[in-house]
Amino acid sequence: MIVEYHRPATLEEALRLLERSQPFTAPLGGGTALNRLIRGEAAVVDLQALGLDIFQAQGNSLLLGATLSLQKLLEQLGAQPMAGELRKVILHEATYNLRQVATVAGTLVAASGRSPFATALLALDAEMTLAPGEEILSLGDLLPLRTERLRGRLITQVALPLNARLAYEYVARTPADQPIVCAAAACWPSGRTRVALGGYGSAPMLAFDGGEPDGAAMAARNAYAEAGDTWASAEYRSEIAAMLVERCLEKINKAQEA
Ligand SMILES: Cc1cc2nc3c(=O)[nH]c(=O)nc-3n(C[C@H](O)[C@H](O)[C@H](O)COP(=O)(O)OP(=O)(O)OC[C@H]3O[C@@H](n4cnc5c(N)ncnc54)[C@H](O)[C@@H]3O)c2cc1C
Repeated sequence: MIVEYHRPATLEEALRLLERSQPFTAPLGGGTALNRLIRGEAAVVDLQALGLDIFQAQGNSLLLGATLSLQKLLEQLGAQPMAGELRKVILHEATYNLRQVATVAGTLVAASGRSPFATALLALDAEMTLAPGEEILSLGDLLPLRTERLRGRLITQVALPLNARLAYEYVARTPADQPIVCAAAACWPSGRTRVALGGYGSAPMLAFDGGEPDGAAMAARNAYAEAGDTWASAEYRSEIAAMLVERCLEKINKAQEA
């Protein structure tokens, strides 16, 4: 149950509140997942007055503020190489109503293995800036240790590479349903290729990070070799993961040739 609501006007004030051990105090982005995550009594620190909703290109990075809503992100994406596929990912992540409220950081912190957005940002090797201290942490390092790494801290922004191409493919019971298996591949001009898989478990999984795409589909097959649950067998997920990665890489190849 939420017993205190704070809406600080500065980052310093927000961090002071989050430092407290009593009552348990959590950042509130859009608030769409927070109620479900809170056990017992808690205070919340609403981040919406902190001006953390930027969308800004800087050098080779696209900086997304922590409280940027998924809908604003969708609307502001332009002609960046990853934009078309990232739009598809966001539309798959959340419905129109949810996108108005759900934030970039809240979505990543609350993501399960079935989150298209977290899967795509893992492939893109997204980097989070944490306050206090401006520590930079990759999403891949944050996802398995979200509770520990974020205690008393805030994500202030998320950086995506502007020069990487992205492709996203999935299978689900219906087109709007959460994925049973999804794959995202990101390729840089240097040939570096990263593949992330989703649809299973508590967080998306990095299956491949190499200097070229060779071996990515096989790595995906191996990464999901044990990914069985009530939704699908491990054999099914493993086969589909390899197929989706091949499709992603073909899509990126075609885009590069065009
Ligand atoms: C009707 C409905 C349907 C939903 N359907 C789905 C679904 O299909 N799939 C799915 O995955 N989710 C679903 N959700 C859950 C939720 O909508 C998403 O996970 C959402 O994207 C969370 O974003 P938020 O900004 O609302 O996060 P919040 O609820 O504000 O926060 C989520 C977590 O992130 C933390 N947090 C927020 N901002 C920061 C920050 N800057 N720094 C550090 N920590 C932070 C919070 O403390 C909390 O632990 C659904 C929710 C609703 C209400």
